[in-house]
Amino acid sequence: MDVEILWQTILTDLQLQLSEVVFRTLISQTSLESINENKAVINCSNPMLINMIEKKYHNLIKKTLENYTHKEFDLVFLAKKNKAVNHIDGPLFTLKLPDSSMLSPSVIRINPDYNFNNFAVSSSNQMAYAGATAVAKNPGTSYNPLFLYGGVGVGKTHLMQAIGNAAVEKNPKIKTLYCTSEEFTNEIIEAISNKTTSQFKKKYRHVDILLIDDVQFIAGKYSIQEEFFHTFNAIYQVKKQIVITSDKPPEEINKLEMRLRSRFESGLTIDIGNPDFELRTAIILIKAKQKGCDLTIESAKLLSANIENTRKMEGVLTRVISESETKSLPIDNELIKNVLGKTLKKIPPSQKATPDEILKAVAEFYQLKISQLKGSKRDKIYSFPRQILYYLLRVESGINLVAIGEFLGGRDHTTILHGVRKISNLLSTDDSIREDVLGIKNRFSA
Ligand code: ADP
Ligand code: MG
Repeated sequence: MDVEILWQTILTDLQLQLSEVVFRTLISQTSLESINENKAVINCSNPMLINMIEKKYHNLIKKTLENYTHKEFDLVFLAKKNKAVNHIDGPLFTLKLPDSSMLSPSVIRINPDYNFNNFAVSSSNQMAYAGATAVAKNPGTSYNPLFLYGGVGVGKTHLMQAIGNAAVEKNPKIKTLYCTSEEFTNEIIEAISNKTTSQFKKKYRHVDILLIDDVQFIAGKYSIQEEFFHTFNAIYQVKKQIVITSDKPPEEINKLEMRLRSRFESGLTIDIGNPDFELRTAIILIKAKQKGCDLTIESAKLLSANIENTRKMEGVLTRVISESETKSLPIDNELIKNVLGKTLKKIPPSQKATPDEILKAVAEFYQLKISQLKGSKRDKIYSFPRQILYYLLRVESGINLVAIGEFLGGRDHTTILHGVRKISNLLSTDDSIREDVLGIKNRFSA
């Protein structure tokens, strides 16, 4: 994680643990200068403050930091002059306050594991993936709003948060706000009753990317829709990005005001289909890898054949792993059956093309040799079919970028990613490329 983002996260957490005065006058003046294996250097522009912080809040900061990093650190407190903050011996209470928007809790709420690298792409979500990556790359300019819809567990929240993560990674200064429409609703109600609507407006309207999850919950709530309409316009007018998810397309959300519906429809609306068996298998493999578990493809397939709901996958996987660890048992049919507590469904016969079949089909279609496709000559007659190959491998075989790189003899995954993105963008505009892709698909799916 980026040092700046990490420290913002820690600060937001500390803000919740401390009184406002302590936070503002002391803790908010700190920054993380560096962090390595076992040492974190914390900076403060004011030597007077740094002593006080070290004396009183050393343990709290240490614990909070370790909560997020899962590592132990020795803390080193350093006083360092910094133009942005007041003079060394300035009075305590006139110190510059932190920019509150930098400390938005949404930074914490975005799950760093929900990123594009951890997102398996298949035909059911390929368009949504392409739209999301385009938006993350150029927020506010490509598709605005981006409206993603689909059933439970198809990956809407994952993709939405991936946009936030990718945009912040590219530009740490970018302000991203994630919330569900229920939270949005509650905050409006709270703001109205506490007479803090101007703060509410400031929070929601001064962002670069607003991510509103599960917008269907504002159906029928007309005063909330009214506020949402104004928030939408304020952000849209200054060309900031809005991303919305829902369980249905705008025209099917009952009791949604016409003007809001037409706003939603003015950008790009994409549906995400239910993940098929192969995609679920890919998702299980990704989740296992994140948990540091070397799941075999066979076990992943068995789990995928028996768990349709992606949201349950992580839970089941955790149980499978801990069962295997505590009882020193291999992860096999028996163990999986025990954990699931039911008779297992068999693994369905594969309908996906294998990487080899795809490679062969692309080579035949463009009348190239496999060695030419796998080779490194950059002439367009090779490089273009190669990019089509990357794209089809990613979308049709469900293997990830790194695995594709390895399959092609050690190619860098960023090269693959570049190709996949290029072809998926071209597919929406170029008929001849669509025809090529269809022609190739016919060869390996026949
Ligand atoms: P939704 O918001 O559409 O209900 P989520 O984004 O919460 O679905 O996804 C449910 C779970 O499935 C999450 O753990 C998410 O990481 C995982 N998931 C769904 N689709 C994918 C995918 N294509 N690649 C990787 N993980 C996925
Ligand atoms: Mg969701």
